[in-house]
Amino acid sequence: MIGLGVGMSLDIASLFAERQADRYALHTQYLNEQMVRVLKTIGYDVGFVKGTNQYLFDREGERYLDLLSGWAVFAIGRNHPKLRDALKNVLDSDLPNLVQLDVSVLAGILAERLLKHVPYLDKVFFDSTGAGATEAALKFSRAATGRTGIVYCGHAFHGLTYGALSLNGEAAFRKGFGPLLPDCNEVPFNDLAALEQALSSRQVAAFIVEPIQGKGVNMPDDDYLAGALALCRKYGTLFIADEIQTGLGRTGKFLAVEHWGIEPDMVLIAKALSGGHIPIGAVLTRKSIFDKIFNRMDRAVVHGSTFSKNDMAMAAGIATLDVIESERLVQNSAQKGERLLKLFNGMRERYDLVKDVRGKGLMIGVEFGEPRSLALRASWNILETAQSGLFCQLIAIPLFKDHKVLTQVAGHDTHTIKLLPSLTITDADCEWIERSFDAVIADAHRVPGAAWKLGKTLANNALKARARA
Ligand code: PLP
Repeated sequence: MIGLGVGMSLDIASLFAERQADRYALHTQYLNEQMVRVLKTIGYDVGFVKGTNQYLFDREGERYLDLLSGWAVFAIGRNHPKLRDALKNVLDSDLPNLVQLDVSVLAGILAERLLKHVPYLDKVFFDSTGAGATEAALKFSRAATGRTGIVYCGHAFHGLTYGALSLNGEAAFRKGFGPLLPDCNEVPFNDLAALEQALSSRQVAAFIVEPIQGKGVNMPDDDYLAGALALCRKYGTLFIADEIQTGLGRTGKFLAVEHWGIEPDMVLIAKALSGGHIPIGAVLTRKSIFDKIFNRMDRAVVHGSTFSKNDMAMAAGIATLDVIESERLVQNSAQKGERLLKLFNGMRERYDLVKDVRGKGLMIGVEFGEPRSLALRASWNILETAQSGLFCQLIAIPLFKDHKVLTQVAGHDTHTIKLLPSLTITDADCEWIERSFDAVIADAHRVPGAAWKLGKTLANNALKARARA
């Protein structure tokens, strides 16, 4: 066994290589067995051994284009040399990390650099995850307004801890975990009248919304976010923009709210700020709100978390912002996003099964729907009867197996494939995306054909699973 001898340094890379083949067995025995079953069913057992920038490499050395980027954490790509150097530098410098009865220099620097991008906000609260940032924002909203109500949108996703789960707009995530936090009310996304009705009681502390919803890549109507902000101002409710997925250049602006010219009271960020390596979350807010929480010396630690301002996380955040700025990744996201939207819109015109294409920058949803052609429609219906949303696997699985493109379905019960690549992708990667999607979508229009043969297997599996449940 490698790297475990007394006095020897631990060789983690060799340990990884030695036990790589055991990973399914280890997870089946000690972790989440259901995840292993999912991966075996869809046939994703390629054993990734390396990640560089926007690419993954399997045990055969085959290169994959990663359009998932660890659920949007690798905005600057995997293992960016600048990030790696920054983290090594922290470890090699014997910094006085987490003294706790002192304040962190690196947290001060990161807060200063973040707020330069969001000049209408004044204060930063750090946590270690996206859900942690949501929890902090909930507590801050209630304490700052003296109200208890929170309004969120249908299909919203703000994390899976109890407070955040209480704001989750999908029944599948909530089922079995109740009761949740009281006074949290759902309104449909893009419905200003429903929002006004919910806020008009003047009991609502905050309205929380993702500018573009992650589950489904749902776009706001052009007047929605500005209208919602105006309603929040009218009824004394705080406006929280959850930019945990959309922030830091993902949509072609530093924050997605910039597309609609609005200035929220709180902005939540996490995911990409980590550089993909050291978890971090942050709430950016106004001094007037912050000062109502941390309002006396005996309340200096009234909310916080042990590891939140640790030096590795702060250094990861500083290095990530540096890369985003120096490599002009916000601009690259806007430019490559425009190119991809154009090419997918072309496919929408050419292909019966492609119903909608939406997104901004490098957050793109391609939605499939019931075809007009009779032969195709019969196959579509068989699949949908077995399990709603199953069709997307007919796209995602061949993309992965035949074209080495890793992508995801944008949530439960949806027909949308979502693209969230690293913001570093190149024109050659866009061509790879075009070639592979075009071939797979064309294939899905052939009945009978390989795609629908796979569909039959998936439908049978889904029916068997339903019978067992
Ligand atoms: N908010 C949004 C919009 C997200 O997409 C996510 C994660 O996917 C979260 C919050 C929760 O973040 P985390 O998984 O780091 O807790």
